[in-house]
Amino acid sequence: MATIGWIGLGNMGRPMTRNLVAAGHTVTGFDVVADAVTAAAEDGITPAGSIAEAVAGADIVFTMLPKGEHARSVYLDEGGVLDSASTSTLLVDSSTIDFDSARELHKQASDRGFRFIDGPVSGGVGGAQAGTLTFMLGGADDAIADAKPVIEAMAGNIFHAGGEAAGQAAKIVNNMQLSISLQGVVEGAVLAERFGLDPKVFFDIAKVSSGDSWPLRNWYPVPGVVETSPAEREFTPGFSTMLMHKDVGLALAGAKTQGVDLPAATLVYEKLQQLIDDGWGDADTSILIRNIDENAKGLPTEK
Ligand code: NAD
Repeated sequence: MATIGWIGLGNMGRPMTRNLVAAGHTVTGFDVVADAVTAAAEDGITPAGSIAEAVAGADIVFTMLPKGEHARSVYLDEGGVLDSASTSTLLVDSSTIDFDSARELHKQASDRGFRFIDGPVSGGVGGAQAGTLTFMLGGADDAIADAKPVIEAMAGNIFHAGGEAAGQAAKIVNNMQLSISLQGVVEGAVLAERFGLDPKVFFDIAKVSSGDSWPLRNWYPVPGVVETSPAEREFTPGFSTMLMHKDVGLALAGAKTQGVDLPAATLVYEKLQQLIDDGWGDADTSILIRNIDENAKGLPTEK
């Protein structure tokens, strides 16, 4: 069993640490929000009052933070992880962050003698609670091999995506593709209905035809068609508009530094921004249908 340091005990971090404790690991956790630490302590983690306290004596340290700026600060600032941890401690950043920040963290960690993995996840809070997250790992073979037995307590799938920042790259590209497919599905759902098609009949046709996609099968944005659709529960998340906006933004930022033009992702980003500006940032991202039809069935009446 491993001694684990954990930084970032929010919506994802808390249930992930709960599964590590349940698997018999010793977890010491820190968050800038004191209440988050207190809540996680109820699940059996040892509360820490600083990054240094959380990483002391750890075999492996995980971070689960909002954005690249938070991850850079937690690793690189004075008193941060690289200042405080022993170089024998394996470092895993599971936050979803921009490709360039992930590369920078790999470089700085390596320059200072650490082994570092970028390891973002998909599967949401439900997957974090159930211990079935998909981990996409970027880093050296030996580091991945050492991290895997610990990650298993939180994961349904573990992929070694490649070298430095490959985990973030896989996550960012996947979610960008999802957003574009979803935009197609919401546009199709509205047009099919205007043409007079029964939504369930159209769904059954598209599902076995070339218009099939993951968001069509899982998130068809009309009530009464797919049980797992957010349209069945007034578009409560699920996967929030805000988080999708963040992930598509990471794709666009990465595309800019790589010199790639992404017209469809740019359009969906604007559509997500429009929803956030209209106050729907906390709703499920399949509320993209609202941009096409403000009166679509199943939409919430209150924000
Ligand atoms: P969250 O905001 O609920 O949790 C992040 C935690 O980090 C907060 O408790 C915050 O106080 C803490 N934090 C911020 N700065 C800190 C610092 N300097 N030191 C210590 N703690 C600090 O976010 P979340 O939903 O848990 O998501 C975490 C990451 O996982 C994000 O990058 C997100 O994009 C990604 N993710 C989230 C989901 C989801 O469905 N929520 C799914 C997949 C991936």
